[in-house]
Amino acid sequence: MKMIPIIGLEIHVQLNTKSKMFCACPNVDDGAPPNTAICPVCTGQPGALPTLNAAALDKGVLAGLALGCAIPDRSAFDRKNYFYPDLPKGYQISQFALPVALDGAVEIQIPTDEALPGRESVRIGITRAHLEEDAAKNFHAPEGIGGRPATLVDYNRGGTPLIEIVTEPDLRSAAEAKCFLQELRAMMRACKVSNADMEKGQMRCDVNISLMEVDANGNHLSPKFNARTEIKNLNSFRAVERAIEFEIKRQQALFEAGTPPIESTRGWDENQGKTLEQRTKETSADYRYFPEPDLPPQNLQSVREAMAQRLPELPSAKRQRLHEEHGFAPNVAALLVANEWDEYAEQAMGELAAWLEASDDEHRSGGDVIAERRTEMSRLVGGWLTSKLAGILVEKNLTLKDCNITPENFAEFVRLLDKGEINSANGQKLLLLMLETGGDPSDLMETHNLGQSVGGNELLTIVERNLQANPDQVAAIRAGKTQLVKWFVGLIMRETEGRCNPQQAEEEIKKQLGL
Ligand code: ADP
Ligand code: MG
Ligand code: ZN
Repeated sequence: MKMIPIIGLEIHVQLNTKSKMFCACPNVDDGAPPNTAICPVCTGQPGALPTLNAAALDKGVLAGLALGCAIPDRSAFDRKNYFYPDLPKGYQISQFALPVALDGAVEIQIPTDEALPGRESVRIGITRAHLEEDAAKNFHAPEGIGGRPATLVDYNRGGTPLIEIVTEPDLRSAAEAKCFLQELRAMMRACKVSNADMEKGQMRCDVNISLMEVDANGNHLSPKFNARTEIKNLNSFRAVERAIEFEIKRQQALFEAGTPPIESTRGWDENQGKTLEQRTKETSADYRYFPEPDLPPQNLQSVREAMAQRLPELPSAKRQRLHEEHGFAPNVAALLVANEWDEYAEQAMGELAAWLEASDDEHRSGGDVIAERRTEMSRLVGGWLTSKLAGILVEKNLTLKDCNITPENFAEFVRLLDKGEINSANGQKLLLLMLETGGDPSDLMETHNLGQSVGGNELLTIVERNLQANPDQVAAIRAGKTQLVKWFVGLIMRETEGRCNPQQAEEEIKKQLGL
């Protein structure tokens, strides 16, 4: 029986507002002393009334627009009832019937080596996005209190704003789920509504997954989906991938044993590498949703208009522009955007483009040549940024933003490489020096004698000496074995320790041999 996975995600993203969703308490990061950012509203004291934080509504609508959703004229909050110590009111204020965003889509790119056939680029439907408050945090006290086992509750997180994003069941593999989450993180960062760091709990994901029988061509045998399991609260890309892989195998085995899976809610055990049954799945009826009587509905018309103005360039558009405007290869553009190196790369390319145009005035080389030269430059910028500089930064535990090398100096460095004034081995040394000192690349190259500075008479003499010392090879070249010219270039590069330009050396050799 050939089966494929059907996957839909529910993602909670913490909104980075200054205060909580329904009270003036600060929206603090983890690390604040427990229960220091609380008030009667967010600890559910009788008689305390919520007021909506306008910034949370703004950010929710902005995120919705980024996800390509329609923003309705009106949204409203509902009470979702359940009992747990981290929920002091006995209900969560959420949105059920009237969310802030509906019916969007996100286009994702899957790297070729991870993509299913024909699915390098897929459109993932967004069912809805709604605002809700987060719950508090339980801690199991390892030693207990007074000799008795104990669970402690920190209410600092209680009442902080979340946006929950629900996708259509459009994903078909663990790799697609990971790519979607990475794209979502990039979008949330671009909109500045959240840093969406999964490791810090700023983005948490529930995975819904079922299997579907297909024929040999991968076509569905039935239009109906099978029962799904929902894996709760995954907090890393890796956990999402592993949980999906595990669940595919588990469900496949159940089908093969003739006992298909039933709807259930499962948890992920990182240490065992397994999903574990928590409970049979609750339905929305179990939550007894009803309209929140303490908050009036929101008119979204003016918010929608204001946020449309604030919608930034999204990662997909940015990648495209890096490719089309600056000549970066698509995979390099993706890497730049994913690591938030795009702004730096663009600034460096801006410097280089200005320089290309200025030098074009002298040579009148025209638009095509500039475009070609720009692509060469982008190859250097992309390569040196994503492999060499990135490697050094990781080693030194630095980020591009707080490193010593300005985009201007980096552009200058790339110019030295492009003009052949320095070779790549010495380029690495120079880059390190730039990082350590924050100095100007041309100055550093000179003071540390890293440039390909052997030229003129010095080069002439070195070539002369090497030709005289190797008469057999010279004779062979004269007899037609011209590939030996390169052998001489190698000799000279070695003698000068890389400080001469190989093209210049080759020209000089040919000149002296009368070729
Ligand atoms: P809830 O989990 O709150 O009951 P829904 O029923 O709307 O909410 O489903 C939530 C998620 O489950 C969505 O991401 C949806 O795409 C996904 N989903 C629904 N049915 C299936 C299915 N049979 N297989 C896999 N995913 C599914
Ligand atoms: Mg769910
Ligand atoms: Zn509060």
